[in-house]
Amino acid sequence: MQEDFSSLPGYTRRGGELFCEDIALKDLAQRFGTPLYVYSHAALQSALQGWMAGVAGTRHRIFYAMKANSNLALLKLFHSAGTGFDIVSRGELARALAAGAAGSDIVYSGVGKSVEDIRAALNAGISTFNVESIPELDRINAVAQSMGKVAPVSVRINPDVDAKTHPYISTGLKNNKFGVAFDQTAALYRHAAQLANVRICGMDMHIGSQITEIEPFVHAVDKMLDLVDELAQCGITLDHLDVGGGLGVRYINETPPTAADLVHAVSQKAADRGYGDLPIYFEPGRSLVARAGVLLTTVEYLKPTAAKNFMIVDAAMNDMVRPTLYQAHMAIENCSQADNCEALWDVVGPVCETGDFLARGIALAAQPGDVLAMTGAGAYGMSMSSNYNSRGRAAEVLVKGSKAWLIRRRETIEDIMALESTVPVEAL
Ligand SMILES: *Cc1c(COP(=O)(O)O)cnc(C)c1O
Repeated sequence: MQEDFSSLPGYTRRGGELFCEDIALKDLAQRFGTPLYVYSHAALQSALQGWMAGVAGTRHRIFYAMKANSNLALLKLFHSAGTGFDIVSRGELARALAAGAAGSDIVYSGVGKSVEDIRAALNAGISTFNVESIPELDRINAVAQSMGKVAPVSVRINPDVDAKTHPYISTGLKNNKFGVAFDQTAALYRHAAQLANVRICGMDMHIGSQITEIEPFVHAVDKMLDLVDELAQCGITLDHLDVGGGLGVRYINETPPTAADLVHAVSQKAADRGYGDLPIYFEPGRSLVARAGVLLTTVEYLKPTAAKNFMIVDAAMNDMVRPTLYQAHMAIENCSQADNCEALWDVVGPVCETGDFLARGIALAAQPGDVLAMTGAGAYGMSMSSNYNSRGRAAEVLVKGSKAWLIRRRETIEDIMALESTVPVEAL
């Protein structure tokens, strides 16, 4: 089953041709080459507005989790729309700052922050570290002390809630590496309260990704608030609650709640528990960018075999790893009307791996030379791409109306080799 293109904001089919806003995708492929990531400005705005409208008139805040797509052009757009950023490395910190964010617009997540990461974040004056263990807390305290600073910290708890998503993107179960076990959280906060160079400011969670129901979020918030109650009894108060990201999107036929529904349900739960005044932070990644993007790829060969039909295209798992890494299903369509009949195809790339596929067993009509569009490719596509098989990363284009800007040029073979040096054979 394929997602219907007409339901994607920013994309339409006109007279058989697929358009991103007012430009035919086929023309973008011609102009910029393939594989190509294309993002619709209107679609990004629509996703942004969904979230911003949800928090309008409240003290809640949106921190875009940039690991979903960290292109600077998109980050600038989000910054100007008023989002902060959720980062997971000092590389992402540098991107947030380059996009114009202030330190106070940044929250820092992740289980393995290095001394250098912590130092860079303290220098930037970030809003809070989301801390995931006692040794990390102690390290943050020590680094802050060495710099004569006080580090704002929140504790990422592991609420042990089933987000009902793929195991690789489920993060809030007690056998996941993330967060502090529920029953150890109060002790960690008490420990933090003793440290001179940290200041407790919040509590955080992130239970997974591509979550298509509200219930796991509300259940997890309920559990968080039990801890907040417990902390209040020891005189520890928080200035915000961070419920993480994870809101799912429609790839094929999923029916996730809207951002506004999620914000409303979570706020309602907090209000019911007597925390109606506590600002809530949200860290959406995927739901802000996934549906704004398509990955364009050109058909190289048709290779029907006795067992299966293979459609060999010029994009591969190094460009888009979600299908093989997470068994993700993503829709693929021909950008133009094909002359031949539909058949079932495995859409595969040139990489030397059996796991190199974009889709398996999907109905498609296409000929060599045709341009295909994979939808929902705006999140965890380009940001997870690699140079495997010495393939240069794809180019990225932002479209608004009838204008298209190249926002990342295609990587060349020279780019790929530029960081390497050889050793004279005589020296070996
Ligand atoms: C990945 C991640 C997010 C964003 O998740 P999405 O599913 O893309 O919304 C938010 N917070 C943290 C800590 C993350 O690791």
